[in-house]
Amino acid sequence: MLADGAMGTMLFQAGLQYGDAPETWNVTHPDAVRTIQRQYIQAGSNIVLTNTFGGTRFRLAMHNLQSRVTEFNQAAVALLRAEVEASGRDDVLVAGDIGPSGEILQPLGQLSFEDAVAGFEEQARALVAAGADVIWIETMSSLDEVRAAFAGARRASADIPIITTLSFDTHGRTMMGVTPEQALQAMTELGAAGVGANCGNGTDELFAAVQRMLATGPSVPIVAKSNAGMPRLVAGKAHYDATPAEMAEYALSVRAEGASIIGACCGSSPAHIAAMAEALRANPAGLAAKPRSEPAPAETAHAATAATDERAARRAARQARESSSAR
Ligand SMILES: [Zn+2]
Repeated sequence: MLADGAMGTMLFQAGLQYGDAPETWNVTHPDAVRTIQRQYIQAGSNIVLTNTFGGTRFRLAMHNLQSRVTEFNQAAVALLRAEVEASGRDDVLVAGDIGPSGEILQPLGQLSFEDAVAGFEEQARALVAAGADVIWIETMSSLDEVRAAFAGARRASADIPIITTLSFDTHGRTMMGVTPEQALQAMTELGAAGVGANCGNGTDELFAAVQRMLATGPSVPIVAKSNAGMPRLVAGKAHYDATPAEMAEYALSVRAEGASIIGACCGSSPAHIAAMAEALRANPAGLAAKPRSEPAPAETAHAATAATDERAARRAARQARESSSAR
C-alpha cells in the first residue's frame, strides 16, 4: 500500500507560519488542508493521514490551545473523509495521525505514563468518533511513549487497527536509544497492525532500519515512510534535497526488501508520491522482490559490515541486491 507524504512541509508552503499549530488550519484553512490531501490521493496514496500530528493536549498546550483537542481532531477527520469521498475511490484509508507529546516521560522527564495515556486517549477518541479507519502513531522515540499512545488508542477503540512507526535518526537508534528490533518486538507484542520507521535522516538510514526489522522475520506488515533526504538549514528553514526520482528508487528498494506500506515524510510532496506510485506500478512487485529466504550474497554482507563509509556500503549493497534480483 502507498501511504502519503509530508503534511507540515506542504502547509508551510501554503502559508502556515513557523510557530503556529498546524492543527488550527483544520478549522481556519480547511480548503488548504483538503487540497494537499486531494493531491496525495490523486498521486496514488491508499492511506492518507489526518492533519493531527500535534493534536494532543500536550502539544496544543504549547499554543495555549489544549482545550480544543476534540474540535481540531474531529475537524481533521471530517476534512479527509470528505476528500476521500469526493475522490470516488473506495481504496483510500483515513488514518488518524498521532505524533509524540513533545514531553519526556518519567522517570527521565515530568510526564507520568498514566497522564500520557489519558492525553493520547483524548485525541484518539476524537479521531475514532469522527470516523478514522486506522490510528497511525508516528515519529516516536521512546518505547514507553509509544506504549502510552497505543494504550490510549486502545481505550478509545477496542478494535481499530493501530500502526506505529518510530524515527531511527540517531546512529540506527531512536533519540531515546531504541533499536529497530526492539521497536518491532514491543509493538508486535502490543498487537500493532503494522510497524515501521518514518522520518529520520533520509532514505539510506530509513532503509537500514526497515531492513533490520525485516531481517527478523516479522509477523506484521512493515512500514517505510522516509523523509525526502537529509534536512539542511537554508536561510533558517529546513530544506530537503531528495528528488521524486530518488524517492521512487527508495520505494522500489524498500518494497524489494519486503516493506508493504510505503510512503514519505518531511520534505516530500505529491510529486514525490506520484513518482513513487508510478515506479511501483511500472515495476511489478513479483519482478522486483527478492525472496526473503534467499541468503544475502556473502560479498554484500561483508562489504556492509567492513566498509568504513557506511552510506557508500549501503548504496553498494542496494545496487548488488537490485542487480541480483533483476536477473
Ligand atoms: Zn517527517
